[in-house]
Amino acid sequence: MTVLLKNAVLLDSVRNNESADVLVDGSTIKAIGRDLGPADREFDLSGCTLLPAFIDAHVHVAVDDSAFREDAIRAWAYNGVSTVRELGMLSQLSQDDYARWIGTVNSQPENATVVAVGNYIDVAGGYGAGPNPNHPVGTLITTAEEAADEVSVHHELGYPGIKIGIHDGRMDSTPHLSPEMAKAICDRAREHGMWVAAHIGICRGAQFMLDAGVRELAHTPSDPMPDEMIRFMAEHGVVMDTTVGDPDKAMEPPPGMLMPGGPGGPGGDAPMGPPPGMVMPSPEEKRKQWKTMVENLGRYHRAGGRVVIGTDLIHSRDFMKDAVIPVPELRALTGAGFTLQEAIAAGTITAAEVVGTGKEEGLIEEGRLANLVAVSGPVDESFAALDRENIRLVLHRGAVIRSEL
Ligand SMILES: [Zn+2]
Repeated sequence: MTVLLKNAVLLDSVRNNESADVLVDGSTIKAIGRDLGPADREFDLSGCTLLPAFIDAHVHVAVDDSAFREDAIRAWAYNGVSTVRELGMLSQLSQDDYARWIGTVNSQPENATVVAVGNYIDVAGGYGAGPNPNHPVGTLITTAEEAADEVSVHHELGYPGIKIGIHDGRMDSTPHLSPEMAKAICDRAREHGMWVAAHIGICRGAQFMLDAGVRELAHTPSDPMPDEMIRFMAEHGVVMDTTVGDPDKAMEPPPGMLMPGGPGGPGGDAPMGPPPGMVMPSPEEKRKQWKTMVENLGRYHRAGGRVVIGTDLIHSRDFMKDAVIPVPELRALTGAGFTLQEAIAAGTITAAEVVGTGKEEGLIEEGRLANLVAVSGPVDESFAALDRENIRLVLHRGAVIRSEL
């Protein structure tokens, strides 16, 4: 099966609004140029911009026993997000069942590809294993040796990375991995060729994790990063996930704070609220933190640091509305001083490289997967053109899964 996309304006981190036709053969891009037809199916993309589908490097798709977010995975693909990385399983499923489930969802053509890490490794009561209802089920360890062995278990199950975390706002009063445990996890992961991403909220936690050998921060710190930290991170190729969210929605608790039983959470209509012991920032504080995060992203980028787009999406009442190209994250990057194409790189090729699909997708290039999204009109620094209502065509592994031309 061949598909010809005619008269498109191509935009990715390399091609800057270049006019061309694209020929897709099977799941991959076969040729880019002119006079490439005929094909089994043809689409006229006059007036549209064609981009690589996006990659969200930080989401959660397994949040309780019964509700894997298959609706979310379908919505992401439909809305132009070809791959999501599940950065920490928040389900009580066994690791084996989960690994099997990932294999099944990834074999279905209409689903976004899921790259997953399995559950957290933590001490009892820690961020990834504690009583917090959002993070109920990490693998509990008590020594550095156990921590390292658990990394090997993840490796055998086929997970490409490890997620750990720390409640860094109240590090002194909550159990957490010791520096030796965190280091043992990083050392063993390196032996297996796996990456380690760490949940942090502020620079204190970031420093703890960087000292242990962590080379990805799953969030941007919400307090100003010291120059020294930025320099160290850039030198060591540390990846930082955006997860700044939408400043206009700053009054809502972030998705990770939704309680099971609360609006958008699995089951029930109990009031939404922060986990026990956590104090939610006021709207003003929240907005201030957002500004600081954006400043950190800009400073890290100017120092040569690697930034990838991540939303931390967990719960939603309507994934078709929320599992979308992360426009607020992209917009935050251009606001932080990224060029349009640098911001696109953070959500496409750089994110693909970080999650492990960098040889297959992330660019409009011959030989790569035809994971493509066409939107109506030009794309500017606001990224408003990437809103889901504006999408006209989506190809996922070469299959036309959405057409509104
Ligand atoms: Zn998360």
